[in-house]
This record gives sequence, C-alpha cells and structure tokens, in this order.
Amino acid sequence: MKEVKNETYDICVIGAGIAGAPIASYLGKSGKNIAIIEFDWGLQERILGELLQPGGYMRLCDLGLGDCIENIDAVPMVGYALYRQGEEFTIKYPVEGKQITGFGLRNGHFMQNLRATLDQYENITKISGRVMDFIEEDGKVIGVKYIENDTNEEKILKAHLTVACEGPHARLRGKLSKANKKVNGHFVGLKLKNCPLPYPGHGHLVITDTTPFIIYPISSNEVRLLIDFPGEKPPRFGEKMKELMMEYYYPLFPESTKESFKNAVEEGAFDMFPNHRLVGEPFMKTGAVLLGDSLNMRHPITGGGMSAVFSDVKKLGDQLLQIEDYANTSDVNEKIKVFYETRHDGTATINILADALYQVLSDGNLAEACYNYLKKGGEKAEGPISILGALNKDEAYLKKHFYAVAKQGAKEKLLPFPTPKKIKEGTKMVKKANSILLPLLKTERIHLN
Ligand SMILES: Cc1cc2nc3c(=O)[nH]c(=O)nc-3n(C[C@H](O)[C@H](O)[C@H](O)COP(=O)(O)OP(=O)(O)OC[C@H]3O[C@@H](n4cnc5c(N)ncnc54)[C@H](O)[C@@H]3O)c2cc1C
Repeated sequence: MKEVKNETYDICVIGAGIAGAPIASYLGKSGKNIAIIEFDWGLQERILGELLQPGGYMRLCDLGLGDCIENIDAVPMVGYALYRQGEEFTIKYPVEGKQITGFGLRNGHFMQNLRATLDQYENITKISGRVMDFIEEDGKVIGVKYIENDTNEEKILKAHLTVACEGPHARLRGKLSKANKKVNGHFVGLKLKNCPLPYPGHGHLVITDTTPFIIYPISSNEVRLLIDFPGEKPPRFGEKMKELMMEYYYPLFPESTKESFKNAVEEGAFDMFPNHRLVGEPFMKTGAVLLGDSLNMRHPITGGGMSAVFSDVKKLGDQLLQIEDYANTSDVNEKIKVFYETRHDGTATINILADALYQVLSDGNLAEACYNYLKKGGEKAEGPISILGALNKDEAYLKKHFYAVAKQGAKEKLLPFPTPKKIKEGTKMVKKANSILLPLLKTERIHLN
C-alpha cells in the first residue's frame, strides 16, 4: 500500500467491490489523484454476484476490464433451462454470430481481479480501513473519516469528490438518497460440489408452487444453489431446514444434481443473504455521489445486479473523465446530475424485469403463464431472455412481452370453453400483471432540481 498523502485528493472511492474497484480503475487513466478505501482487501467468499449476464460482460469489456474474467475458472453461460412440474426446456441467449456469453464465476475471485487492475496506476492509492462518515463543511462533503485497519486509529482523508460504493448495507446511503431499502426475502445458498448439470453452461431455474430456486455453475466443479425464502424475516437454519430441503425441495431437483444436493444438505454449510429492493432516488449533494448497491438494488433472481453496476460505472466514469479540475464544484455537480438523470437507459429494464419476474414467479397462475409463453420459443423466448441477459434495454419491448404473457395466460384459462368463473380468473390475472408492472415503471426515471 502506498503512503496516504496529506493533501486533498481529486477522488476518494469508498469500497473496492464490484462498483468501487472498476470506477477507480476506469478513472485511473485520467491521471487524477485517487484514493480507494476498503476494509477487506482479502479474498471474500460470498453468494452474491456469481452470474454475469452477457450484457454485463459487454459493459465490462467497454470499461477495458474484460480480462478480469480470465484465470478464475469462470464458466461461459449460454442460456437457461426452465423446470416446472416435471417438464423442462432450454432457451439460449440470442447472441448468434457474436463471441459473447455470460459467465458463472466465484465472486470473490472476480473481485480480486478487478482490484488487481488498480495496481497499474501510480496515481491510485489503496487504503485499508473502514469509512465511518463523511466530513462536511458548509453543506459540502469534503472528505471522509475512516478507521485505519493497521493502527485502529481514526484518520481523515480530504477529497473534492467522494464516490460512495459501500454495497448493499451502505451506512452513508441516507446522506445522499431519500430511498429506503426493502427486504422482500432471503436467498439461502448452498455450494454443490461435483454436480453434473443436465445442461452445462445454463442457469437452471426451477419454478415451484411457492417461490423459485436457481442453480448454476460457478467454476468447473462447483455449482451454486440459491433458494428464495420470501418475507422480511430470515429463515432459521438447523434440523428443520434440513428436513424442508429433503422433503420439499429434493424431489424438485433435476435427477443428475440430486446426489450433490443431498450431500450439501447433510454437510449443512448454508449461507444466506437478504434480497433487497432499493429504488434509485438520490439527491444532489456537492462533493459526493452514490454508485452500485449503495444507489440502487433489484431482486437477484435474474442475476442483473453487476450488469446494472457496470452500466452505471461506464456512465458515471464517462461523465467524470470530462472534468479537468475537480475543485470546480459546479462542473462536477453538472456531470453527476447528468449521470443520475440518464442512468435509467442502461438500468431500467434490468431493474423492472428483476422485480417483475420475481413477483410473476411467486404467483401460481402468472408463473404458469410465463412458463408456457417462454416454452413457445422463437421471439417469445428470445425476446424476454435478451432483456434478462441485459442485451436489450428497450422498455417498450419489455412491456410488450410482459403483457403478452398475461394475455396468453388469461386466454389459456378460458379453455376448453369460457365459464363466468374462468373469465373472472383471466381478468384477475391481467389485473395482477398490471399491478406488478405499473408501479415498477414509475420508479426508474428521476429529475433532480
Ligand atoms: C443473494 C444475491 C445474489 C446476487 N447474485 C447476483 C448475480 O448472480 N449476478 C449479478 O449480476 N448480481 C447479483 N447480485 C447483485 C450484485 O452482487 C451487486 O449488485 C454488486 O455486488 C454490487 O456491487 P457494490 O460494489 O455496490 O457492492 P459490493 O460488491 O458488496 O462491494 C462493496 C465493497 O465495499 C466495502 N465496504 C463497505 N462499506 C465500507 C466502508 N464503510 N468502508 C470501506 N469499505 C467498505 C465492502 O467490503 C465491499 O468490498 C446478487 C445480490 C444478492 C443479494
């Protein structure tokens, strides 16, 4: 680690995670003085961010960081296999002719590669410590207070601009945003070892009578399982959890994965993380900007988080690269405003689809309609998966498919012939679809004063 300078840095980045490391690295080429403060530079084991969608990988390449996917035994991902009530089918990402796939990966290893890119810049200073608060003067953020890891002493670092990338549990979020995060459930995670997947290089999404679960490779011999438990309260681990796993979930697993699943349950190394929804509702505050999960979160069922983050990193980075003098606060503010007000064109479809799909898959009728719609193949499969893969960012296209699912489902309900009860059920389904989508559409665009 380089010595921390006793002068005002141009930029201070808080957190060297999926957002922080890339933004520091992307801005490194500007030659500006950058400090990045992280409390754990070691290899982290976590169940977050283990599936990078192809559109997210494209953004990573746009940032010049495509190599970070190498030497970590990442698995190229070509599409999804869907399971429901004993049936199954696959959908491929529509990337024919292009050398793009998604990737299954171990998040910690990927993050270490992103962090390693910081070392090529003399102008980036890495600091080991925990940021406790902003330092403010006349309503402006002029730096941060942090506890240095080595000495346990409180230190001060001054910077013209602080980019806050603290992740999902951000403590400083409330100082830059009016949004409240909501917990809508928890993902319980298990790592399945030596688990032959029926469709290698595919995410396996299993639609159940309650909420869905997903399995996908994260290395050549490890598979991640994430099971959704709805509600604000975290589920309890212990013998009851093991019983639930074997009695309810075990029969739903694809045959070839059952043995590995059983072994993992017996081993009992369950992991858990809350699934949040956080609308991006920042306000302007001179001297600081939010990025990554500090700014905005969506349900992880679609594996869209990192794609949204890399889109934001590129957008904010391209604005900040135009700044000549970071002491010019009105110029910095103008660039941040542009970022906040235009970021939706890279993130809205990812956010809307994630929260809409989670609600659809948690509703028996809509889940059935969605499964049947995608099964028809052609554009009905490729359209939605191109949005899920962060390859298509067209909101109108998302709406078209979303309502087509509900309408087709309502029509199928009327078969073989309509009855008043069936008509009522069909109408209820379209209404439910509306009640899911409309509120989500309203939250993506922001205008700042
Ligand atoms: C269960 C779950 C599964 C997910 N799966 C996927 C997936 O498959 N694909 C996908 O694309 N997205 C997924 N996501 C979302 C994705 O992981 C996040 O969008 C992404 O990690 C956000 O990046 P970030 O940099 O904001 O936060 P993080 O990557 O969490 O980084 C934050 C960093 O800041 C550091 N830090 C925090 N506070 C401080 C402080 N005060 N001082 C110093 N350092 C600090 C932390 O140590 C950490 O290194 C998932 C999310 C969840 C909850």
